[in-house]
Amino acid sequence: MSRIVIVGGGLAGLAAAVALTARGFPCTIIESRPRLGGRASSFHDPTTNTDIDNCQHVTLGCCTNFRHFCHTTGLAEFFRREPALYFVGPSGKIDRFAAGSLPAPLHLTGAFAGLSYLSWKDKYALATALRVLTRPVSEQDESESFAKWLTRHKQPQTVIDRFWFVVLVSALSESLERISVSHARKVFVDAFLAHRNGWYVDIPDVPLEELYGGRLTDWLTSRGTTIRLQSSADKIELENDRVTGVRLGSNEVIPGDEFVVALPFFRVLSVLPESLAARTELQGIKQLEPAPISSIHLWFDRPITDLPHAVLVDRLCQWVFNRTAIKSVQIRQSSAPDSNEDRLVDAFYYQIVISASHQLERSSKDEIQKQVLQELTDVWPIVAEAKLLHSRHVTEHRAVFSPVPGVDALRPVQQSPVANLQLAGDWTRTGWPATMEGAVRSGYLASSNILKRLEHDDAVLQPDLPTATLSRWMFGL
Ligand SMILES: Cc1cc2nc3c(=O)[nH]c(=O)nc-3n(C[C@H](O)[C@H](O)[C@H](O)COP(=O)(O)OP(=O)(O)OC[C@H]3O[C@@H](n4cnc5c(N)ncnc54)[C@H](O)[C@@H]3O)c2cc1C
Repeated sequence: MSRIVIVGGGLAGLAAAVALTARGFPCTIIESRPRLGGRASSFHDPTTNTDIDNCQHVTLGCCTNFRHFCHTTGLAEFFRREPALYFVGPSGKIDRFAAGSLPAPLHLTGAFAGLSYLSWKDKYALATALRVLTRPVSEQDESESFAKWLTRHKQPQTVIDRFWFVVLVSALSESLERISVSHARKVFVDAFLAHRNGWYVDIPDVPLEELYGGRLTDWLTSRGTTIRLQSSADKIELENDRVTGVRLGSNEVIPGDEFVVALPFFRVLSVLPESLAARTELQGIKQLEPAPISSIHLWFDRPITDLPHAVLVDRLCQWVFNRTAIKSVQIRQSSAPDSNEDRLVDAFYYQIVISASHQLERSSKDEIQKQVLQELTDVWPIVAEAKLLHSRHVTEHRAVFSPVPGVDALRPVQQSPVANLQLAGDWTRTGWPATMEGAVRSGYLASSNILKRLEHDDAVLQPDLPTATLSRWMFGL
């Protein structure tokens, strides 16, 4: 039996492990941190005595490989599908956005038409640009940012701020100036135009730690895969153009026959042997750039909204997730300022997500929190009366790679220049942006290459949702 070693227990490494383990090839996963999940993981919050996610992770209906990964491992039952999205316009009016009965690509026409914070003139400009965006990306498109494309296609500023920014910055975690036209096009085609179910948002009902640390760990280990946490890979060992093992920080060497290195792009080259890291095929990795995502976790003494989530338009806060709808918590509070006695009070937990949070780097936590609370008060005046019991701010400075024009040419394929070494990670060439879907795809592609080498030719990568007949006919998708 071939010994397969996977370095990195994020979703890319985990997906490779699941694909291989499911086919009877257990692996050894080496993860430097004390938990699995990588950028999609939780940490313990002592005040609430709960695991909270580094950031709310959501997935879309068009993410077919991530869904397959969850179905294979039994995680799918822990996701809740939102039947509608709630957009809160600048005036505070809430628009419910949901598919109608028409087939794709017309299923969301009514929902777009109903967005009260866009005028009919805005909607006409938006529809015109959306139609152009469905066309294949031209050379000129490829050379410019999506912000420039929008100006070239005469999009009014209100439409840019209230529509394009809202959808794309959430989906790609970058500012419009740093998004390529092809990545923007992919979001609209996959999520809104190609299939009726592409736009659905699925949200985990439990902390990410429960998914990857609990359920998935059990699934993998009960099938023979070994997970080594708190084991940091120092160097990949190469002999005669073949990887022979992974040297850990402790100097222990984990030998193997097939290897997957599923590390973040900013770490991978330091772990590869110099001769491999210098290969031309891998030089693009050095030019990948990171983008930050911030999340503000707030616990109030009362509910501030019944909505399961809200998309805030034209504000600093982009998404609000109502985590209380999922799990109630209690926080210890002193009864009175001069009392030593504590009592447990109910706490209502909301998480605010700010993608591409470059501008927050210049503000203090207090300033950010003040603005966030003011925005929440504008939408839900009860926030002014509510007591804030507890808060946490998390910024992941290297949350994703920036999908800038030309980025796909920098991303290497999973098969490395060394035959028994695969690369995986959301940043490898998958055609997808930095998402859980992109990470799972990369792990599936890497495992497919290994299965071929082991003469076990099996299709691992799952197909996209099929393109609706009318979408093909209207837009040639
Ligand atoms: C704040 C935030 C919000 C996000 N929101 C969403 C969302 O809503 N939807 C979505 O689809 N995606 C979202 N993403 C993106 C998504 O989390 C990532 O695309 C995905 O998790 C990347 O997985 P990965 O396996 O490629 O990389 P990683 O998760 O980075 O995994 C790499 C692993 O390697 C480990 N490692 C590093 N060095 C070593 C070493 N020397 N030895 C051993 N192990 C090592 C790391 O600890 C890590 O576990 C978000 C990301 C962030 C940060």
